[in-house]
Amino acid sequence: MTAYLTPNPKLGRAIEAAVHAEGNLCWTCNSCLTECPVNIATNRMQPLKIVRMATLGLLDELLRLPEIWYCITCNRCSYVCPMSVKPAAIIRYLRQEVARHKLVAYATITRYRELFSRFQRTRWHMAQHCLNGFDLSLNAALWHQWLETPVQPSADKIASEDLFRGSKAFRKAAADNSLRACLTCCECASACPIFCERSVFDPVWIFRMANWGLADELLDSPSIWLCIACQRCTDACSQQIKGHHMIRRLQELAVEEGFVGRDFPSCWKKADYTLYPFVLEEIDALFGFPAC
Ligand code: SF4
Ligand code: SF4
Ligand code: SF4
Ligand code: SF4
Repeated sequence: MTAYLTPNPKLGRAIEAAVHAEGNLCWTCNSCLTECPVNIATNRMQPLKIVRMATLGLLDELLRLPEIWYCITCNRCSYVCPMSVKPAAIIRYLRQEVARHKLVAYATITRYRELFSRFQRTRWHMAQHCLNGFDLSLNAALWHQWLETPVQPSADKIASEDLFRGSKAFRKAAADNSLRACLTCCECASACPIFCERSVFDPVWIFRMANWGLADELLDSPSIWLCIACQRCTDACSQQIKGHHMIRRLQELAVEEGFVGRDFPSCWKKADYTLYPFVLEEIDALFGFPAC
């Protein structure tokens, strides 16, 4: 016999009040679904489903949903939503509720955070392989090797004669984004969901390098391709530096100035997506979700 889910309007209103997500405005246009990178890569992430379940007040079911841990918090679903619904905010709230009600052991959540950090290592290694022009298909052995291999920080010391050598377009991008006003307060790094190891990705490092005109070092780096464009660095910056714009511009300059080929951004995106099924398998194993 089919078990029907019973809507709980009171709980739906409570979720709505907690996150101001405007779930009632959703008109099921599917934009969040088709833009979600995890869904594109794996077909296993449905922000629309989460919005509908939240509106119906199905909190118990939501708190057991694997998808709330699959989300990489890129916020893309919220940006593309034509109705100002915020699926990403609902997912963040649900994770907090899981922790608050101790539905998952604290140690598991800690290991989840560590896994997400090591996932960024695999993305860095993949970006480096793509920059090296390697035609590679990912397999489990390589995934595990990358997961466990820290990125070595650059041993090169920056000499004063290396500074301020970027092209006119490079210097204009730094000026347009007010990088000189940076206080190196690191609020952007604290807010950045993928800042885990400096050698892998550090927005402050990127902004300082850009401000110093270190174009070659940046435009050749795998790190600039890891940004998931969530805009949290921009939202956190008291100096109104638009960090996410700057990184997007660096990616464009890498193409314009011949550091990568014109097809690199789309090839990188495809290569990046091949990593997601692997990380979802790790998440399933960590939380004890049934294997797909
Ligand atoms: S925030 Fe999560 S659900 Fe939304 S698009 Fe990004 S990965 Fe998908
Ligand atoms: S993009 Fe917005 S309106 Fe469209 S399905 Fe997703 S939440 Fe609903
Ligand atoms: S938050 Fe703004 S001022 Fe602070 S380090 Fe980042 S870019 Fe610089
Ligand atoms: S947009 Fe900013 S906060 Fe988001 S991933 Fe990129 S650097 Fe980090």
